Amino acid sequence: MQIIRAKNLGFCFGVKRSLAFTQNDYPKPIYTFGALIHNSRIVNALKKEGIVAVNDLSEVDKGTVIIRSHGAPVEVLELAEKKGLNVVDATCPFVSKIRSIVAEKHAAGYDIAIFGKADHPEVVGINSICGYTATVFDEAFPEKLYDSEKLCVVAQTTSSAEKFENIIDKIEKDRLKTVEIFDTICYTTKERQREAEALSEQCDVMLVIGGSDSSNTAKLKCICEKNCRTYSVSGADELKSIKFNVGEKIGIVAGASTPIESITEVIGYMENNYTEAKNEEFLQAVDAVETNGKTLREGKRMKVKVTYADEKGITVDFGMKIDGRIAADEATLDDTYNPADYPQGMELDVILLSSKAEDGVYPFSKKKVDKIKEGDKIVDTIRNGEEFALVVERETKGGLLGKLGTYTVFVPASQIKERYIHDLKPFVGKTLRLSRLEIDDTKRRIVASQKVILEAERKEKEQIFWTNVVPGVVVSGKVKGISKFGAFVSVDGVDCLVHISDISWTKFKSIEDILHIGKKYDFVVLKADREKGKVSLGYKQLQKHPFDVAIENHPVGSVFTGKITSLMPFGAFVEVEPGVEGLVHVSEASNTYVKNINDIFKVGDEVQVKVLAVDSEEKKITLSAKACLPEAPEDPAKAEKKDKPRAPRKKEPRKEEGSEWSEDDGNNPFADLLKDIDIKKD
Ligand code: SF4
Repeated sequence: MQIIRAKNLGFCFGVKRSLAFTQNDYPKPIYTFGALIHNSRIVNALKKEGIVAVNDLSEVDKGTVIIRSHGAPVEVLELAEKKGLNVVDATCPFVSKIRSIVAEKHAAGYDIAIFGKADHPEVVGINSICGYTATVFDEAFPEKLYDSEKLCVVAQTTSSAEKFENIIDKIEKDRLKTVEIFDTICYTTKERQREAEALSEQCDVMLVIGGSDSSNTAKLKCICEKNCRTYSVSGADELKSIKFNVGEKIGIVAGASTPIESITEVIGYMENNYTEAKNEEFLQAVDAVETNGKTLREGKRMKVKVTYADEKGITVDFGMKIDGRIAADEATLDDTYNPADYPQGMELDVILLSSKAEDGVYPFSKKKVDKIKEGDKIVDTIRNGEEFALVVERETKGGLLGKLGTYTVFVPASQIKERYIHDLKPFVGKTLRLSRLEIDDTKRRIVASQKVILEAERKEKEQIFWTNVVPGVVVSGKVKGISKFGAFVSVDGVDCLVHISDISWTKFKSIEDILHIGKKYDFVVLKADREKGKVSLGYKQLQKHPFDVAIENHPVGSVFTGKITSLMPFGAFVEVEPGVEGLVHVSEASNTYVKNINDIFKVGDEVQVKVLAVDSEEKKITLSAKACLPEAPEDPAKAEKKDKPRAPRKKEPRKEEGSEWSEDDGNNPFADLLKDIDIKKD
């Protein structure tokens, strides 16, 4: 005798999910609204744990009520809330989806039609959403629905998919004004029905394992008995009365609410009694389920199948009693999660985040596996020394460690910076820019260096620096330090010097009054010696010369009042602008004859002067005080002299008198001005 089992055996996603809720620690007493699943064994087992099934809440006044996968009528939920009960909604998401469709369409004025059994708790719950106005049918499309202005058709999740398709095909759509049909039969129901159809076509006998009140088990029986002899059994005991013939092919299917224990029992009985060898593969699979949770270890990588995806994440089946869940933020690397990208049955590569179920599901991450895969791809691109980024996970003896895909990356302490790093702690959690030194594919180990990248970058910068930094070029630099002979400035990481004489055109007390440590300024390159690695910069050269400021503010012909800064036999020096002086020659000091300049001026006097001339090349400003005075009356003695014939004058060599000015000692020293002047002492 040959025994063939369907691939889909054991609890469906919705049942596993609702059972998982019973594992949580809720306020007691705990009730389920109706039998949690259509299986007396499970219901009794739950009862032993103190979780009791009730069919109405009138006698329940405290504690928790778990709403089973079928959902519950609206008025039941309202009553539970009114009573202040802790309501745990374990409604299967596929059922919740139908309830949302009905709520939306009913609100939009649609008539509702439900394909299913009118007294099935799921259908009752859905019907309650539209105030029990729905037309429920499980045979031909009701004639009265053709009168509907707007019609919405949904199906009970465990209906016969084939029957629903046939009925929908036969609807005379032309007779309906507006109709929207939603195929809401759940995927596991369809899968199991497809398998039952295929198996029953090739078998002589079909065993359908499941509770007698289970709707989906009943549907499987209907499908199978069209093709061969079919028996519905809930355990091994019931097999004893069935007569099997030698050489018959026996097919086994099970309802979505049939526990694995019942399935194991039936298959075990059949194999012990009707076949020679047990199916090792199946028993191993059963073992795996039996050791549920115990063999799981955090970080385990495994393949899972999508059962359901919504905005919050993806529910996955990984062959255990309890499902797994990938939270939306653990689904993709780039936070572009979209439930539509994860159809039922899609296989995913994931990592177990915890060996303990949370809220009745095991948490998985797909993102982490994607990251590992991405890391492995990166390893292939860095074999020639290309730079890659690594987040340091921890320090170890002599270096830092991180992961790149399935590879462990080690960065020796000597390879983190250009100098040896003793304190590694600050680097944990930071991202390093690395280049591989060694890749060992067998040990999946990479030794990498950041130092080589930093060194190469520094050299490249230096190359660019020395190419571009030539005399006359203006550069931007940060003041790093100040000494008595100048300021140290960093330009593109290279230290340069601004000598004190190149800081300002005018006298100053302290360099800090002009240049501040930590601030950036523009400088002109005065000298650049690559061999000696020395660069001289100038700051004052980029500032306006005080002489230019002076002639801008005091053009020729203008009058201003200035202070006398010094007196010379040939005239008086007057401050035009700080650091710039002009000369009032003795002949321009007064409108009367001046024998000695000291007779009319003293240092510190303020005097009104007129700018007579400017020599930009020699940086000289000629001033006149006389030009600002009224013309003097003619001297009578002079007038008399004028009438007398003039005796010929003995020609004496003309003394050259200074008419220069000095901007300051440093730029045009007064000593220089005087060195060519012959001054007679009284
Ligand atoms: S049979 Fe489908 S709808 Fe029903 S509980 Fe299972 S998964 Fe949910």
